[in-house]
Amino acid sequence: MSELIRLTAAELSAKLAAREVSSEEATRAHLDRIAEVDAEVGAFLATNEEASLAAARAVDARRASGEELGELAGVPLAVKDVLVTTDMPSTSGSRILEGYMSPYDATAVAKARAAGLVSIGKTNMDEFAMGSSTENSAYGPTRNPWDLERVPGGSGGGSAAAVGAFEAPLALGSDTGGSIRQPAALTGTVGAKPTYGGVSRYGAIALASSLDQIGPCARTVLDTALLHDAIAGHDHHDSTSLDVAWPSMTAAARSGASGDSLRGLRVGVVRQLMIEGVQAGVKSSFEEALALIAAQGAEIVEIDAPHFEYAVAAYYLILPSEASSNLAKYDSVRFGLRVVPEGSGTVESVMSASREAGFGAEVKRRIILGTYALSAGYYDAYYGSAQKVRTLIQRDFAAAFEQVDVIASPTAPTTAWRLGSHGGDPMQDYLNDATTIPANLAGIPGLSLPIGTAVEDGLPVGLQLMAPAFEDARLYRAGAAIERLIEDRDGQPFWEQAPALAPASIGKAAR
Ligand code: GLN
Repeated sequence: MSELIRLTAAELSAKLAAREVSSEEATRAHLDRIAEVDAEVGAFLATNEEASLAAARAVDARRASGEELGELAGVPLAVKDVLVTTDMPSTSGSRILEGYMSPYDATAVAKARAAGLVSIGKTNMDEFAMGSSTENSAYGPTRNPWDLERVPGGSGGGSAAAVGAFEAPLALGSDTGGSIRQPAALTGTVGAKPTYGGVSRYGAIALASSLDQIGPCARTVLDTALLHDAIAGHDHHDSTSLDVAWPSMTAAARSGASGDSLRGLRVGVVRQLMIEGVQAGVKSSFEEALALIAAQGAEIVEIDAPHFEYAVAAYYLILPSEASSNLAKYDSVRFGLRVVPEGSGTVESVMSASREAGFGAEVKRRIILGTYALSAGYYDAYYGSAQKVRTLIQRDFAAAFEQVDVIASPTAPTTAWRLGSHGGDPMQDYLNDATTIPANLAGIPGLSLPIGTAVEDGLPVGLQLMAPAFEDARLYRAGAAIERLIEDRDGQPFWEQAPALAPASIGKAAR
């Protein structure tokens, strides 16, 4: 195992800038790590060694010629398969897009490449980002690097597991209902959902367009901020992308880690997010973290958000409605899989056979539900009501942010569960999203960072911070400060406790 894979992106950047290592060496080290452990972890759906090494060498050549490069230039990056790229297939975890090659790069990927980041692979995910465990991938599940018998969360379990297993220092994800934050929590990594519109969705295979947001995954708050800065900003290809001058998230993270930025910070704890069913060890880890935060001079304020208890119900009507419409384009004519049933080649029969073969059970369930919720006679009762609840949740947030600067909660009600233990019952997965969904419904930013392990199972617990729209930098400042408190308490950064670092825990010697 090369020592290079242990470095954070910030540390690796410094070595690259000082020319102590080349991007080719760093890229090679991570590709070797993937070759060593990914048969067990299953974080990647595709790699393209030749293209990745060529990109790395190109960055090295630019550096050698004295060109001024971005801070992350030469650092390897894993890309969730929801983002289309020209260098590898883009499937969104679905059979219906098996082998699909995009003619263009998603804007987030294009921006990352322009910043000199080197794409090293496409990561596994629940099909079309529908799920909370990555078990809904058509290509098999991803496993949690903390315990290979457990799920890494979802839908971005591949990206979270890739950074958690030291296969990549950075990864891109998408968060429609928690798919960056919840896997971060379950794998002991960091992930952020930017303000809706903060990062372009162009080239992100759409799930629910009013909720989808692209964002960064890493092992530290600073690394997450560095990647956030590299991909944020207006894009005329995405009409919902915000045309604002974002402050530097990196500067916010650096100032948070060095200063006493928690002093006087008003931290809200929403009574309705401490829901029944929060695992005891998650609750106690969260309370312990709150005590550490309070000891730094932050004010902990209990707040009410009476409509949050309807968030899961509203989300699971809005999301399927939008998804049923977005997924109508997989009609076997324009994209992907085409199945021609024997003896009948009408457009309808081909479309129906292709969709039957190409979509998995959860995707079909949501298409059926969404089509029903949008149909004449039911629209007002379901989709219309859900939209009203969405407004009420937005008002709950607005009222809360009159009293507090940030809201804190456990990122997910539980730690990572055993593969298969939800037994295909989608409700159990849906309920795990109760803590992350409100932020998507309101379009506000959220960040998850590890705060320890649960007493009963020794698995990572994440703390979620939320802030008003446009205030992403506040999350990085506070997040970096909390990360420092946890590091001081434990005597080492959280990621150094990852069992994936013990040579025998993953790879040939495991199990
Ligand atoms: N678990 C959520 C869902 O299944 C998360 C989706 C997401 O953020 N992509 O819809």
